[in-house]
Amino acid sequence: MRVIPISLPTPFYIGPVNVYLIAEDPITIIDTGPKTKATVDALRAGLRANGFLVSDIRRIVLTHAHEDHCGLAKSLRDEANNAEVFVHDWETGHRHSRLQYEEHRALLERAGVPEKEIQWMRRMYEGMREYADTLPDNECVSLQDEAELEFESGTLRVLHTPGHTPGSCSFLREADRTIIAGDCVLKRITPNPVLSPDPLDPSRRFPSLAEYLVSLARLRACSPTLVYGGHGDAIRDYEELFHRYFRAFQERQSQVIGLVKKNGVTAWDVGQAMFPGADDVHRFLAVSEAVAHLDLAHSEGKIGVELAGHTAVYKPRDPTSRI
Ligand SMILES: [Zn+2]
Ligand SMILES: [Zn+2]
Repeated sequence: MRVIPISLPTPFYIGPVNVYLIAEDPITIIDTGPKTKATVDALRAGLRANGFLVSDIRRIVLTHAHEDHCGLAKSLRDEANNAEVFVHDWETGHRHSRLQYEEHRALLERAGVPEKEIQWMRRMYEGMREYADTLPDNECVSLQDEAELEFESGTLRVLHTPGHTPGSCSFLREADRTIIAGDCVLKRITPNPVLSPDPLDPSRRFPSLAEYLVSLARLRACSPTLVYGGHGDAIRDYEELFHRYFRAFQERQSQVIGLVKKNGVTAWDVGQAMFPGADDVHRFLAVSEAVAHLDLAHSEGKIGVELAGHTAVYKPRDPTSRI
């Protein structure tokens, strides 16, 4: 089974995105790139260089539903005469634009994000919508953990690896333990466990960091020889990367706990202290990362939390309390 990486330009800060062509029947692409002319032109060129056209695609499989990965899914599907689109059910929220939901707004309020910032984030994410067409749930096939995607000469096993988003999936080719991991594993940067409502109970926050750590360990248990990420080069030494990620998480966890002062702090305060001067999308990613670490520290009993109105205020753990 030939897995062919194709790098596509994006207008986003992260730079080019990798999509993967599985060049045997049924012809499949994993991720699509965002909906821009430059991206679709590059994708056509990449397919042509390997002897294929968009009309040859039978399956479009999405690692997750961020715009840089899923934006072209609908238009490619239509051009390829109704190729099937596969995505995990828990990506529903993302497919409909992230800040549309009141639940998401409630999470930002809980994190102490000021109202004018929430409005700014809403406008930013509404601007992102032009980079992806919405795909109704009933037009997608849901990816199931441990299911096998069959090809002429082998299979790819679906691994549900939540964390970066609730429905992120990776794909394992067992024959040589190659994994296509989307944004779960990136060579140069530690992926952000993005703030999302829990798909099973949208009034709660998805425990993205705790889930992410489990997903990284699950990939490690596969002993991968090669991991293809959503951006940047493929990873040949996952074990080294795994330890690097864990060290980075531990350092960040101690930094966040150190920022929790007696008078109480919100996730927004912690995000601003960790990333002073963060601008643009980074303001959202900063608060996202702060929430992820604060809630993990709280769930492990390392800090306390109280509600002030709708906002969570974190405090050092009361040494007299018994948990
Ligand atoms: Zn992503
Ligand atoms: Zn990405």
